[in-house]
Formats: sequence, C-alpha cells, structure tokens
Amino acid sequence: MHVMTTAAAGGPRTYQVRTYGCQMNVHDSERISGLLEQAGYVRAGEAEDTPDVVVFNTCAVRENADNRLYGNLGHLRPVKNRHPGMQIAVGGCLAQKDRGDIVRRAPWVDVVFGTHNIGSLPVLLERARHNAAAEVEILEALDVFPSTLPTRRESTYAGWVSISVGCNNTCTFCIVPSLRGKEKDRRPGDILSEVRALVDEGVLEVTLLGQNVNSYGVEFGDRYAFGKLLRACGEIDGLERVRFTSPHPKDFTDDVIAAMAETPNVCPSLHMPLQSGSDDVLRAMRRSYRSEKYLGIIEKVRAAMPDAAITTDIIVGFPGETEADFERTLDVVREARFSSAFTFQYSKRPGTPAATMDGQLPKPVVQERYERLIACVEEITWAENKKLVGEVVEVLVAVGEGRKDERTGRLSGRARDGRLVHFATGGAGEPGDAESIRPGDIVHTTITYAAPHHLNADGAPLSHRRTRAGDAAEAGRSPRTPGVLLGLPTIGAPAAAPAPTTGCAVSP
Ligand code: SF4
Repeated sequence: MHVMTTAAAGGPRTYQVRTYGCQMNVHDSERISGLLEQAGYVRAGEAEDTPDVVVFNTCAVRENADNRLYGNLGHLRPVKNRHPGMQIAVGGCLAQKDRGDIVRRAPWVDVVFGTHNIGSLPVLLERARHNAAAEVEILEALDVFPSTLPTRRESTYAGWVSISVGCNNTCTFCIVPSLRGKEKDRRPGDILSEVRALVDEGVLEVTLLGQNVNSYGVEFGDRYAFGKLLRACGEIDGLERVRFTSPHPKDFTDDVIAAMAETPNVCPSLHMPLQSGSDDVLRAMRRSYRSEKYLGIIEKVRAAMPDAAITTDIIVGFPGETEADFERTLDVVREARFSSAFTFQYSKRPGTPAATMDGQLPKPVVQERYERLIACVEEITWAENKKLVGEVVEVLVAVGEGRKDERTGRLSGRARDGRLVHFATGGAGEPGDAESIRPGDIVHTTITYAAPHHLNADGAPLSHRRTRAGDAAEAGRSPRTPGVLLGLPTIGAPAAAPAPTTGCAVSP
C-alpha cells in the first residue's frame, strides 16, 4: 500500500535531518535546515507523516559508523518504497569518505554530498528528482565558506559561529584533516557581522567554532587574530557571553589569555583537549605540545582568571600506551584540576594513521584504565564543584536541560563558567516564580549542593531578568541568519538547544 507524504497530499515538501557526531556536524545540520527552508521545504513534525526528504549528516569517527549508516538506510528502504517521491540524502564525513560506494551499497539513496559542498544539497535533490537517478557530488575543497549559507538556528539564546573549518594538524587518531581539508579562516568582518546579526535577534551567547581556534589567522598571516577577535566580540552591545572551542595547546599564545581575562563578556571557561598526559603518547598522537607546556598554559589561565573552569578531552588506550603512560595522564588530571572531562576509550577510526599502528590494546585493559580515569576525574570535579557551594551564580536558562524536572520542580541552565546548574524557582509572586522563567532568561541564585557533574541551587532565585531571547522562546521563534547577511534575519519555530560542546571534532 502506498502512503502519502505531506507533499504528495498537496502540502509543502517536508524534511528531517538526522545528525551524528561532533559539534561541527550539529552546526552543519543547522545550515542544511536553513538551506532547505530557503528552498521552500518545511521541517517535518516529530510524530507526523513520513518526511519527503531525510538527510543523514554522518560522522566517520566510530569504527562501526558505516554499519550504523547502512543499517539505518536499510530501515528506510521499505518506508521509501511505500512513499513515492520520498528522497534520501547522505552528507557529512562518511559521505566524503565513501562517496559513490554509498549508492552502490544502498541504491535507493538519492543524493550523496560531501563536507565541502553542503550548499549544493537543494539543487542535487532537485536534479535527482528530475532525472530519477542518484546524484553524487563530492568536492575536494570548499567552494564557499559554510557560514555564508543560510542557517536555521536551533536556539533562541545561544548560537554557533564558525571562524574556521578544516585543520592543518595531523593528529594520528583524527579523520578531520583528510575529510575536512586544510584550515580555512573566515574574515573577521564576516564573523563579527554574523555575531551582530545573532545578537540583533536576541541571542545572548555565542560560541566561536573551529577545529583549532588558536591557529585562526594563519591563512591571512596574523597570529594574534584570535585574541583580537575575542576583544572585538567584547565591543558588541547585548552580547553577554562569548565562548570558543577548541583551542590547541601547541598554538596557544599569551595574548589570548590576556584577551579572555580583559574582555568582560568572554566567559571564564576554557575547554582545552589534553588527549594524554604522557609525552610519549602525545608524540605518537603527533600532537606537538608536551604535558609541561599544557600545564603551563593552565597555570597562566588560572593566574589571570582564578575562577575559570577548565575542561578537557582525554583518550585512554591509545596504541602503545603503557601503564606508566596512563599514570602520567592521571598525574596531569590531578594537577590540572579539571572541572569536567570528556573521556574516550580509544577505538580505531578507519583511514587514520593510528588505526594501523602496532600496540593496539586489548579492550579489557582499555576498559580498566578508563574506569580508573573516570573515578579520578570525578573525585576532582566533585571537589572543585564543592568549592562553589554558597556562591551566587548567574544562570542562562536552557531549553532541554532547562525543562522543568517534574520530580524536583527545578529548572536548569549554565553558569558563566559553563557549569550545569539545576535551580529551584520562587513561589507565586516572588522573583523567579516558575511560570515567569523562560529559556533564554537570566537568573541569579545561590549554590546549595554540588555533585560531580552539576550544581544545585535549592533556594528561590535572588533575581530573574526577562530577556529578548526569553521573549523569542515564549513566542516560538528561533533566529535565522541569511547566507550573505544582506537583510535582517527572519524568524522561525525553535527546536532543541545545541548539544554540549565536546572540543576538537574527534569526539564521538
Ligand atoms: S584532533 Fe583536532 S587538532 Fe588534531 S587533527 Fe583533529 S581536528 Fe586537528
């Protein structure tokens, strides 16, 4: 039996984007949505009829990423057979890697596009429909900087802004250099225009995004460009919080620390991937800093910003990692006193040099070290969090994280230093009563309890500020930035908040 899609029933064509992988992909999916909406598609509702177009934005970092993709495509095949006119598109890193193989293995796929030509998607869909044949288009390099594409933002209060794409490093566990190419830096003027357009829409917080933000400027010959960019963000009225991810210890310069400390809207937080505390493992990873340099940066950051929360990414069980190497990682974790760490068990990523290295460790060894690492990290993060009990924090109320917990009656959001805070609301008529607080609003509250991964504030908020982002959330609008920033951004319906930041785009 044939079932109709919305378009077949005479409505507009609908789309759904399924996103896998890192923050780069989450932001690329915002662009994919923006492009499709500009081309007249509307987002399919959660429980509604089958979408007319399903886009997979894939990730290549997991060993079994392709099995997962082909499994999902297999599930969609009978759905597509029942829905004439439905189209399936596959983009992202796995598409960049597997190219034409995808339509050979799954001939019911209509479009394959790569990481360098997201902008072609609407045309490729159209062409595939017209020719009734699959379209595969993969470019080797960017033809247009992705942020010049229209973007449908997922949050009313926080936005991602790309400052660069690609990476000039060659970390042996990472697929980014081969799939996303050399670093391409966006002009500072374009970045700042996009930030201003977001702030004009009510956005309070911006995260500057690049694989290695510290090398920003390498393309146009200014090694201090990133610090200058942070200071320029400090001049933008209405922008309350500036974050960035990810820095690379190798390229971290003191002027960036000074810019962070001296620019009031730059948040007192730093997410800096460590990956390993052992110099031998760092060498094998081809990460050219050593643990001493890493700890030196942290020392300077703490001297300039004593309240900064420092977070990291760590990989356990890299090929050749010995027990002594692993203990060195534990030492650095103890010394650095991270407020949180994203910890990963090493797994082979096809196409990376590390996947074929000698000394691959048995899973039980990796698992055992991983558990010890987590215990060590949690002991420290808990102790660090406990220092905040009794402190007043400013919380930007979140969607998703901010949904009222029915059991505890708390809302949630992020403090300026990035920590997750669950807070009680005030009674009716008091400041911060539950009914009046919207995602995107700001509250001040006192921390009463600390857990390893979050803080609680169980008294009524000390203050509640209604913001334009909160107004937008209440009205069901989310910001959109047009491709070339010629006109005013338009307004649409919101969806979930951005995923938490996980640093260098190698995080699963
Ligand atoms: S891990 Fe980060 S710095 Fe290293 S190659 Fe990958 S993206 Fe570049």
